[in-house]
Amino acid sequence: MQRKTKIIESIDGEIFDIELSEDLLKKNKEIARENKKLLEKHNILGIDIMGAIGAGKTTLITKIVSILSKKYKIAVLCGDLTTTLDADIIKSAGAEVIQINTGKECHLDANLVRKALKELSLNKIDLLIIENVGNLICPGEFVLGTHKRMVVVSVTEGPFMVVKHPYIFMEADVGVINKIELKDVMDVEPKKLQSAMKKIKPGIKVFETSARKNIGVEILATFISKLLK
Ligand code: MG
Ligand code: ZN
Repeated sequence: MQRKTKIIESIDGEIFDIELSEDLLKKNKEIARENKKLLEKHNILGIDIMGAIGAGKTTLITKIVSILSKKYKIAVLCGDLTTTLDADIIKSAGAEVIQINTGKECHLDANLVRKALKELSLNKIDLLIIENVGNLICPGEFVLGTHKRMVVVSVTEGPFMVVKHPYIFMEADVGVINKIELKDVMDVEPKKLQSAMKKIKPGIKVFETSARKNIGVEILATFISKLLK
């Protein structure tokens, strides 16, 4: 039987509550640094997964969790405005899940993550995956304290999704082009999306997947498991 999902709610622009006078992003960075230290103290790898609504973040995370949970203890923080839909799906794949409901905020911030980390038994976790709120704009600006940042786009978002959102790719270490089974229907070339990503962020590592059809997910999971060693 599944336990009830824990929910952390944002109180009207969470981060403002901490320090009214300080620059928002600067304060966010400071807390992110503390989050990272906390993760490292417990030997946890943190990955922040960003992407638009419908890119397939939840399905991809669910598949990664089902592969890696055979060997590692995984916790997932699920950022969403109001629902627990994603959290419930991911939990069924074998991860401990905490929902972070942001209300009107269209991104997670380091303070919300810090609160959520307090709810986890950190010494029992190897991998922390954070599903950011579905949005390709400001999540990039708000670092959370993870070691890697991943952006998921799907071919259904059209051929210009990458070039129109350069800032989030500048922040990314990993790019995933998802739903490749639909490339012909959409008339979108994954290779072109790949080169657009690499033009914005030369060092980016790119994967092509279909989370739904289980294409390329094993390769991505292997990449993550190598970071865990
Ligand atoms: Mg989702
Ligand atoms: Zn936002």
